[in-house]
Amino acid sequence: MTKLAIPKEVLLVADGLENAGFEAYLVGGCVRDIILEKKPKDWDLTTNATPEEIQKIFPETFYENTYGTVGVVGESEDPTLKVIEVTPYRKEGTYSDARRPDTVEFGISLEEDLKRRDFTVNAIAYRPKTGEMVDLHGGHEDIKKRLIKAVGNPSTRFQEDALRMMRGVRLSAELGFAIEQETAEALHANAPQLEKISKERIRDEFIRILETATPMQAIFLSHKLGLLKYIAPDIERGIGIGQNQAHSFDVFEHLLRAMQHAADKEWPFIIRLAALFHDISKPETRRWSDEKKDWTFHGHEVVGARVAKRALQDLKFANEIIEKTTKLVRWHMFFSDPDKITLSAVRRMIVNVGQENIWDLLNLRICDRIGTGRPKEQPFRFRKYKSMVDEALRDPISVAMLAVNGESVIKILGEKPGPRVGWILHALLEEVLEDPKKNTKEYLEEKVQILSLMEDSALKEMGEEGKKAREKAEEKELEEIRAKHHV
Ligand code: ATP
Ligand code: MG
Repeated sequence: MTKLAIPKEVLLVADGLENAGFEAYLVGGCVRDIILEKKPKDWDLTTNATPEEIQKIFPETFYENTYGTVGVVGESEDPTLKVIEVTPYRKEGTYSDARRPDTVEFGISLEEDLKRRDFTVNAIAYRPKTGEMVDLHGGHEDIKKRLIKAVGNPSTRFQEDALRMMRGVRLSAELGFAIEQETAEALHANAPQLEKISKERIRDEFIRILETATPMQAIFLSHKLGLLKYIAPDIERGIGIGQNQAHSFDVFEHLLRAMQHAADKEWPFIIRLAALFHDISKPETRRWSDEKKDWTFHGHEVVGARVAKRALQDLKFANEIIEKTTKLVRWHMFFSDPDKITLSAVRRMIVNVGQENIWDLLNLRICDRIGTGRPKEQPFRFRKYKSMVDEALRDPISVAMLAVNGESVIKILGEKPGPRVGWILHALLEEVLEDPKKNTKEYLEEKVQILSLMEDSALKEMGEEGKKAREKAEEKELEEIRAKHHV
């Protein structure tokens, strides 16, 4: 076996172990990736040294987890090489809960260590010192055949740790490998075991699936193998739900295709996630319209935002991700015909979804359109809409951006802080949204004087009702426009 190209940082750690009289093998994803001529994401070494012995050899180390992994810190600038993980040979004890081994034992043998690994392609070891390959489970052959195959009895292995089933699907998407027949059958049979896995572990693997280049295929495979209903059951409700004439696919396939477009564009995880959930509530909001002779889905984005929120909370996503995804789902139906929309409606849209999310929302719209299977060609109009967004972003869109603030209002009026201040600011914002040129200290301060003469009730109405009434009028106008243009 010719020696493989291993970075010097990794060789240094392997040599350190070997020179101290221990064995050092590269193992897992990095060996698999080198054979596939891909750049490994990280480098894992396994050894017959104990954690204490490893720590004695290297000047800077830290203890990583309960599995005995020691992180050896080097001087590399490359983040994949800064820390090399060294794990003692492990043999896992019995599993009583499909989740994690009851005990972890160190220092048995390389053979034992390879036996406890999930898939044959991940169970090849390579010893840099000698160039020796240890492949006891036919990993090379499965790489050649492009197969994901469990090490040992697949059913037993999935019962030990049910997350391996999701790892298998993820690996198959990452590598473009098929899942070997017997492994796939065991996966299908054991899918319900996923229920025993912590939501956090499921979430992390779900993220990695969405981050592959082919998430559509992976989610579809998860569905076919029976895993998806233990990950995000709402997505499957779209199966067989036909849509209106603008669509070629049912809701399920539309969601998957929209998400896949985000992956094709190499857009970040959050857009893929929002695309996968954007029409999540179409099934329950679908109504037949005799007038239109077609399906309608009124309010699906409002219900969908709630349903997506619950699904993501269930998967223990960070609040930040939940908030953002929910906003994108809630506002994905925004009206974007640049010839029919006013700049103030665009501003309102930006206020709704948040400035920091507006470009992601536009990308979600692109995914949505491609996902219909029959996108209307309108790059020019979309560009025009984008330029309107750009223009609107330069204008104030919240009370905080007004040329006057609460303090100055209080000063001008000589009044105590109270609800009147808020009403005045909102009344000012309404005006500025309509005409950004009015956002000057001079104009607004004068306007504050005029507003201050109004009684509480009238002012309150301006601040609150005025806003609502305008939104309504705008909505009505938009609806007429939509109806006229069949969108
Ligand atoms: P990646 O290229 O994404 O890092 P990987 O295969 O290296 O993929 P890791 O999560 O880094 O995946 O795990 C390293 C190795 O540990 C795997 O290749 C596999 O041999 C083993 N492994 C990880 N998780 C499990 C598991 N749940 N059950 C059995 N073996 C596992
Ligand atoms: Mg790895």
